[in-house]
Amino acid sequence: MSKPLFLGIDVGGTNLRLGVYEDCTLRWDVRVPALLSELFRRADSPAAATSQLLDLLKAGIDQALHAQPGIQGIGIGFPGFISPKTHCLSQSPNMPGLHDWDMVTPLRAHSGLPVYLENDALAAAYGEYALTGGMVENMIFMGLGTGVGGGLILGRSPFPGEHGVAMEVGHIIVDPGGRLCGCGNKGCLEQYASATGIQNSYAAAVPGERLNTKQIAERAAQGDVHALAAFQLAGDTLGYALANMLKVLDLEYVVIGGGVAAAWDLFYPALRQRLEADLIPALRGKIRVEASRSEDRAGILGAAMLAARLLPGTGAA
Ligand SMILES: [Zn+2]
Repeated sequence: MSKPLFLGIDVGGTNLRLGVYEDCTLRWDVRVPALLSELFRRADSPAAATSQLLDLLKAGIDQALHAQPGIQGIGIGFPGFISPKTHCLSQSPNMPGLHDWDMVTPLRAHSGLPVYLENDALAAAYGEYALTGGMVENMIFMGLGTGVGGGLILGRSPFPGEHGVAMEVGHIIVDPGGRLCGCGNKGCLEQYASATGIQNSYAAAVPGERLNTKQIAERAAQGDVHALAAFQLAGDTLGYALANMLKVLDLEYVVIGGGVAAAWDLFYPALRQRLEADLIPALRGKIRVEASRSEDRAGILGAAMLAARLLPGTGAA
């Protein structure tokens, strides 16, 4: 008998990504342009924008159900704070003005399936956890993309915190009084270690040139000192933030994903150096920090695996 299938949806700033999984094996996937921030900027009201977004999600779900009729549950990773009590989106940086939006009820009614909503970085963390095949019980995930997100797995379960705000690691202050962040504070980690942060570091050193992270990585590979320094700063700030997280959590396993992780060799040595220097001595040499093994699919995999947890007796947990 074939195993149940689960649909994972990752709602990103530019795309809706959908993947159907049988355990950790991808059976079907699709990417739909969504331009979330644009959608919210252009809509007349938050209600109009959520209604358009719901239509997009419903259309994606219909497409997945048509292609893979055996789907038993749907998981959604969404950029924003998800209340662990109500499963509503309490707030999202992409959607100012939106509070306590319940997207689970209408999607459940539309699909006739259980629907699980989680923060996108926490869903990605769960995806990375699933890929360990149960070899770890606790882990930290950090995703380096446009911003820096984080997710914590404790006792094989996602840990959202009391208000769904746990692991907002991108806003750990690594340089007091430093670069202004979208959150209103100065010197937050994501201003240095995200793709945007690396681009800003390079642009500050080489005025007049605006390169993307891949281009900066290519320059670094050719020995461009400013490009190398931009990645080293990213690694250094990540190591600093991570050492502080580990002083609170005492975990042994860390996975780093997101687009920037592709440039691993450019930032990891600085990360490792700073981490070892800043850790409590008893922990030095004991922390495993690895690059994501999800091929950039941790978000959809984790969302699917979270949906699987809703069904008793199935899933990765
Ligand atoms: Zn911030």
